[in-house]
Amino acid sequence: MERAAYEGKAKRVVSQPDGIAHIYYKDDATAFNGVRHELFEGKGTLNSQITERLFEYLAGHGIPTHHLGRVDERTLSAKWVDIIPIEAIVRYKVAGTLAKRTGLDYLTECDPPIIEMYYKRDDLGDPLINDDHVRQLGLATPMEVDWIRAMARQAADALRDLFFKAGIDLVDLKFEFGRTADGELVLADEVSPDTCRFRDLATGEILDKDLFRFDEGDLLAGYRKLLAHLDRALAADVQS
Ligand code: 5GP
Repeated sequence: MERAAYEGKAKRVVSQPDGIAHIYYKDDATAFNGVRHELFEGKGTLNSQITERLFEYLAGHGIPTHHLGRVDERTLSAKWVDIIPIEAIVRYKVAGTLAKRTGLDYLTECDPPIIEMYYKRDDLGDPLINDDHVRQLGLATPMEVDWIRAMARQAADALRDLFFKAGIDLVDLKFEFGRTADGELVLADEVSPDTCRFRDLATGEILDKDLFRFDEGDLLAGYRKLLAHLDRALAADVQS
């Protein structure tokens, strides 16, 4: 059987029979639309572990996701989805492109959180778009956009609470959503330090891909520390 494969910058997705996808997490780190590229041995495994835990946590908090289980050390299985080419960003504090675009001070609180949509198009540099652009481009229906916004906020709030218990500040994050063969909308892609910004609440230490983007420190050490804190918070969550 022909197996459709998508080779992304940090993952490879291979279609399996019965509407299943195998998602292989690579060790590649890229930034600024692929301008910077480096390999970090073990990053793929760490991101698959963090994503697996977070999708399971979110499923337990009423968020439908594509996640099904683990295949091997760095491969997860999921429902095959058609990804909606919208990146939904939730921001609790100013950072990254929001700081650049607005001149607001880094880590200014956003209350309520800011939700943005970007058009997932590498060749256009993932531009910021609004509901009218989504309609013009035919990316999603107005009802789907409302659902994506509500789900992004609900999932992000659940993660922010969990990470707070882990002693970590979730600054912002990106979600992607997809449609299954049955037409169900689900949270898809990954949720990891590649797609979120995390700061240690006690020390302010960066624990995400900004370590690589801005040469802020040891990426693998940061990802390992994040996973260790996350595991402690999840264990406490189960006991409570
Ligand atoms: P910013 O717009 O400030 O660069 O990113 C906001 C948040 O979304 C950050 O947590 C960042 O990691 C995530 N994000 C935005 N766009 C992308 C993208 O194209 N790829 C990945 N991996 N993360 C993204």
